[in-house]
Amino acid sequence: MNKQPTIFLSYSWSDKEIAYIIDSDFQKLNMTLIRDERNAPYRTSIEEFMQQIGKSDLAIMLISDGFLKSKNCMYEVLELLNTKELEKRILPVILEDTNFLNIQSRTKYYDYWDEEIKKTKENLDKYVTQDFFNEFKHQKNIRNMLDIFFVKVSDLKTEKFQDIWLKAPLFKTFRDRANLKGSCGKCDYKFICGGCRARSAAYHNGDMLNGDPGCIMGVKGAKSA
Ligand code: SF4
Repeated sequence: MNKQPTIFLSYSWSDKEIAYIIDSDFQKLNMTLIRDERNAPYRTSIEEFMQQIGKSDLAIMLISDGFLKSKNCMYEVLELLNTKELEKRILPVILEDTNFLNIQSRTKYYDYWDEEIKKTKENLDKYVTQDFFNEFKHQKNIRNMLDIFFVKVSDLKTEKFQDIWLKAPLFKTFRDRANLKGSCGKCDYKFICGGCRARSAAYHNGDMLNGDPGCIMGVKGAKSA
């Protein structure tokens, strides 16, 4: 049996509501995303968790203003940039509040990280501690690769999140359970269950709106035609 691909969802906490929507849509397809809230138990170090992104088959990145200013998100970017074939393993989703595809708009992120580095350096010089040293090193790494990240993501075909996720006809169709067909279409529980759309597509030659063949309620739940 084929192993299910591992898909990592990288996002800033300021975008967690969008992350929940994506996560729940993937769950409807019976696919579980790796994301911090569920997959980073208390005893796992946050760095250990974030390193998983480098080993995943695909990384969905919700790139927003908050993402580009987040130390943790940029740590995940660093992990990804260190892997081979980055272009095949990243699905960048650009949110509305950033416009870094326009080269002039990138300067605010260069300025932001320069300012963070400056503050940390002042603290390092004053207190000479390991934590300020680590932070300084990490921020410098982020700053050094920021332009490479922008260039790589700009080279990929990218769409605004609202266009691909909320407006794409495919996603709109399968979110509306009134469109279901077959046993799921006739079922009394379709608005609270909906069935597995991935199983339906696999069984019915790609028809993701048809009945879920794995359902034990299919017969009981379905109204007689
Ligand atoms: S037939 Fe089964 S899988 Fe389909 S909606 Fe009803 S309960 Fe859910």
